[in-house]
Amino acid sequence: MSDASFDFDVIVIGAGYGGFDAAKHAADHGLKVAIIESRDMGGTCVNRGCVPSKALLAASGRVRELADAQHLSSFGIHAAPVRFERQKIADHANQLVATIRSNLTKTLERAGVTIIRGQGRLEAAQKVGVREISGVDRTLSARDVILATGSDPFVPPGIETDGRSVFTSDEAVNLEWLPRWIAIIGSGYIGLEFADVYTALGCEVTMIEALDRVMPTFDPDIAKLAARKLIDGRDIDARSGVLAKSIKPGAPAQIELVDMQTREPVETLEVDAVLVATGRVPSSKGLNLEALGVETNRGFVPIDDGMRVLAAGQPVPHLWAVGDVTGKLMLAHTAAAQGTVAVDNILGHNREIDYRSIPAATFTHPEISSVGLSEADAKQHSVDQGFELGVVRSYFKANSKALAELESDGLMKLLFNKVTGEVLGAHIYGLHAADLIQEVSNAVARRQSVRQLSTEVHTHPTLSEVVEVAYKQAAASLTPAA
Ligand SMILES: Cc1cc2nc3c(=O)[nH]c(=O)nc-3n(C[C@H](O)[C@H](O)[C@H](O)COP(=O)(O)OP(=O)(O)OC[C@H]3O[C@@H](n4cnc5c(N)ncnc54)[C@H](O)[C@@H]3O)c2cc1C
Repeated sequence: MSDASFDFDVIVIGAGYGGFDAAKHAADHGLKVAIIESRDMGGTCVNRGCVPSKALLAASGRVRELADAQHLSSFGIHAAPVRFERQKIADHANQLVATIRSNLTKTLERAGVTIIRGQGRLEAAQKVGVREISGVDRTLSARDVILATGSDPFVPPGIETDGRSVFTSDEAVNLEWLPRWIAIIGSGYIGLEFADVYTALGCEVTMIEALDRVMPTFDPDIAKLAARKLIDGRDIDARSGVLAKSIKPGAPAQIELVDMQTREPVETLEVDAVLVATGRVPSSKGLNLEALGVETNRGFVPIDDGMRVLAAGQPVPHLWAVGDVTGKLMLAHTAAAQGTVAVDNILGHNREIDYRSIPAATFTHPEISSVGLSEADAKQHSVDQGFELGVVRSYFKANSKALAELESDGLMKLLFNKVTGEVLGAHIYGLHAADLIQEVSNAVARRQSVRQLSTEVHTHPTLSEVVEVAYKQAAASLTPAA
């Protein structure tokens, strides 16, 4: 399979989850592979994203649970006041990052992948330039090139960061200090997860959302219910419809707030720290995509469903892109799945990715998850395709396991085609929602009908019965076949 006229069969630029899965999959299939990484092996997820944030959420979640005297006393438990060491929580996250980064690097080495530390760029068709950390610049050839350069935090104009009093998630994951009062700009999943961590550890949070409601990217019913506990029930002052026009670092850090619509000044806040969680931008600037005639869409690399990079709507031969840099469902498991699909296509198997079945989760306490279409998109889809949309709700308060845990706050909304029963999407808020969504995700991937799904037996008593109840309600509401 290897082609000796090239230095490598595949060169991957970027060693995040997308690049890692692509490189490993290619090497496992006998290809000669190099991966180029300019910063840390493992990319955002391992070093500055999923891994450290979930470690912080695990530790701070325990603190929250033990500090909730009222909740514990309902079980008849009375614990002494909870005490925690910030540095040890930070160490737990840092050690986990180091372990996973090292395991991932060893896995690539064992698979025979050549790891090159430096900055990669395109030079021409099937040619990659590398500025190595040592300063040496060289050009390598490859039959196929995969771009997997990921994304970086977006800091809107007018906001100045210093990494200490005004920072992004890149620094927040280090938990270097606990501000008494922190403003979090943005109420997407990153802002919500850090609000969960900070409030559990005793910080006061002000959440600033430019759009007219907090949690604007979530299902409106799920957001409404979740906000009651995750925002209103905590030491969080949430403001929507206001824009942080300028932020200046310092002690205190200053935030100039204006009305989102009128741009009239609203207030100047003086806080101990600001976390800017306003989304992420693709990392594609230095890639020299122009060399191959590729025009980005606000920095995102255009691809087809087989991960082929497009120039003027047509695939560029032997050039592929995966992960956050493509802007499709910017999540670690999407990047990894795209990496595998790109390599399968390089190997000559015709594969595409099914974005509809990719789940997403927010690891707050309780969690929020979703898969498939939003209710608005499902409605539009039903109008376009001429079928009736079915919507059912299943509540955690009717679930024995949730009641036993005294964690009955939660809702699942299931969207389906009322004629065929096909599952179109699901949105869940409640205990272990991130695990519960997988079952629905598998059903969406197989385009299964609630008719069949409703007959599948679920373990009692488990939270999975929340999903079973939704399937059963949906099946009972199907339009009888004509
Ligand atoms: C705080 C936070 C929490 C998150 N939590 C989750 C979660 O719980 N679950 C989840 O699924 N996702 C989560 N994500 C998202 C997830 O981290 C990303 O979707 C994922 O990392 C994308 O992988 P990637 O391979 O596309 O890019 P990245 O992980 O960004 O990796 C790209 C790599 O390319 C390197 N690179 C860039 N340009 C070059 C170049 N020119 N030459 C060489 N190397 C280069 C970068 O240094 C980087 O290492 C989280 C993100 C953040 C910020």
